[in-house]
Amino acid sequence: MSIEIRNIQKRFGDFVALDNVNLTVQSGELLALLGPSGCGKTTLLRIIAGLETPDSGQVLFGGEDTTHTHVSEREVGFVFQHYALFRHMTVFDNVAFGLTVKPRSIRPSKEEIRDKVLKLLKLVQLDWLADAYPTQLSGGQRQRIALARSLAVEPKVLLLDEPFGALDAKVRKDLRRWLRDLHDEIHVTSVFVTHDQEEALEVSDRVVVMDHGHIEQVGAPDDIYEHPASPFVTQFLGDVNLFHGRIDGSHLTIGDYAHRLTTVPGEGRAVAYVRPHDLIVSRSPEDALASGTVEHIHAVGPVVRLEVATGDGQTLEAVLAKETYRELGIALGEAVHLKPKKVSVFLSEGGD
Ligand code: ATP
Repeated sequence: MSIEIRNIQKRFGDFVALDNVNLTVQSGELLALLGPSGCGKTTLLRIIAGLETPDSGQVLFGGEDTTHTHVSEREVGFVFQHYALFRHMTVFDNVAFGLTVKPRSIRPSKEEIRDKVLKLLKLVQLDWLADAYPTQLSGGQRQRIALARSLAVEPKVLLLDEPFGALDAKVRKDLRRWLRDLHDEIHVTSVFVTHDQEEALEVSDRVVVMDHGHIEQVGAPDDIYEHPASPFVTQFLGDVNLFHGRIDGSHLTIGDYAHRLTTVPGEGRAVAYVRPHDLIVSRSPEDALASGTVEHIHAVGPVVRLEVATGDGQTLEAVLAKETYRELGIALGEAVHLKPKKVSVFLSEGGD
């Protein structure tokens, strides 16, 4: 079931929570809504769910206008950050709940419910916990049961609002992979809200980056990461070093450094963004974008993170493989030169 969001506008008093949002979720895809706190992700999800009414605009499910369809008739499943499973019911009964409360005329038989619940519990790999109570489960297990429960009624659309937000980092990481695998198996159209870049990039087919009530960019994770469409997206997706310069013709110049651009965003003052792992650390000043003194060395795991203080008071961050770091024999206080492997360039606000 595809979802189409057309010209959605939503205010809370004078505050514009969503400003003319347009978006299509393809049938069967897993789409992440990513953005900082307050950007409007949850509001958009609630409008898709029918828990919130837009001031103007439309929501279409499979081409049909559902803007004013009641939440109970939209056939959506939810998983929230704190999903309240019924504490007095077993895992089995929690998952079965949506089926047992159906009107008698369309309620499946006891055997059908049993088969379905066991199938779902197998799908979320927790069939061995069928007789347990929610208080006996870990946070991660609870969220998997919550998901099984929301899938029991075969929703056309699955909506997840920070479903792993309350879990610790390790469990979160495991569940991300698990959700990706699960989605590959069931292909229900899903919209997933998160403020965690890594989570959005790892889990989803496409990512929607939002800021201040509007969409900044929509694309496949790789596309968004490699070709961010704006300074906001570039900075939101991860650590980045900033360099101020100019674009003249097809050349970017930053101090003495010149770089030929393959894609030219225009002419005038510009900001170049380079990710720490896209800075090559060298002993030679040739073609250097910046030079400085090594101020900090963090050597944790397979990479080494260097902080390099430049003459003009800037601190740059470079990440290099441990092996390269050893080969270069870099020590604190030494001079190094930095060359970019890849830059994202945008014209400065206000142009010239
Ligand atoms: P978070 O990750 O913090 O939940 P979000 O991107 O999901 O952020 P929303 O919950 O959609 O953001 O909220 C967007 C803005 O709208 C926020 O500034 C919020 O305070 C405001 N807002 C949301 N719901 C209401 C409401 N019912 N009444 C007034 N303001 C609201």
